[in-house]
Amino acid sequence: MNETSPAVAAAIAGAFGALVGSFLNVCIYRLPIGTSVVWPASACPHCRREIEWFENIPIVSYLVLRGRCRTCRQPIGMRYPIIEAITAAMFAAAWWFYGPSLLLVSRLIFGCALIVLFAIDLEHHLLPNVITLPLIVVGFVLSFFTEPGWIDSLIGILVGGGSLLLMFYAYLAVRKREGLGMGDPKMLAMIGAFLGWKMTIVALMFASFAGSLFGVTMMATRRGSLESMLPFGCFLAVGAAVAATVGPAVVGWYLGFL
Ligand SMILES: [Zn+2]
Repeated sequence: MNETSPAVAAAIAGAFGALVGSFLNVCIYRLPIGTSVVWPASACPHCRREIEWFENIPIVSYLVLRGRCRTCRQPIGMRYPIIEAITAAMFAAAWWFYGPSLLLVSRLIFGCALIVLFAIDLEHHLLPNVITLPLIVVGFVLSFFTEPGWIDSLIGILVGGGSLLLMFYAYLAVRKREGLGMGDPKMLAMIGAFLGWKMTIVALMFASFAGSLFGVTMMATRRGSLESMLPFGCFLAVGAAVAATVGPAVVGWYLGFL
């Protein structure tokens, strides 16, 4: 059999990723409202007409339909093609970097979870337990067979969950109200399960830095107060993605300066 060139293989992985992205869109839409992600078939949220298979081709259908429902002409959210494109890019890049391996599987499951959590937290200010809790278990089980190893993963779960739980109660004690949701500690515990404790700390640092930078920018441009900021889960998702990809290089570079 001929060897498929790496670029072709990455492109196939990307196309598969777009299909997975389409399913992630279903999860993002249905998990917060508590309906099944496998039944019934997708329908237009405006006219309730069932979506045909040819209207459901990732990215392509959105472009062909010019972002509108074929029947009622109501706009289809930009979120759909964006999620599909990001997932496609992630699958292609992950295949390119990891090749066929259990680490690839682990990183893709983790990445899909981050995408869904980011989108749901952005829209609903919610990090559903139905994603975070089972994935803590999945990440921990996978860690027996691939990076970061089960001890690192276990400490990651405890450090991740514990640190944000401490912050949650510290904020509550000082400000007399909740600054973080209870979903955030579970999400960071999930990040710990997949990335291990060192990269969990890196992810939290990146998230806090990105969050502060965003908050300062928003206030400087007078677009909103600290209260109207993006939910922290969005920053955690970005921080974890950065930690998973360039985290070790950044830590190595930083330690080189000490
Ligand atoms: Zn419609």
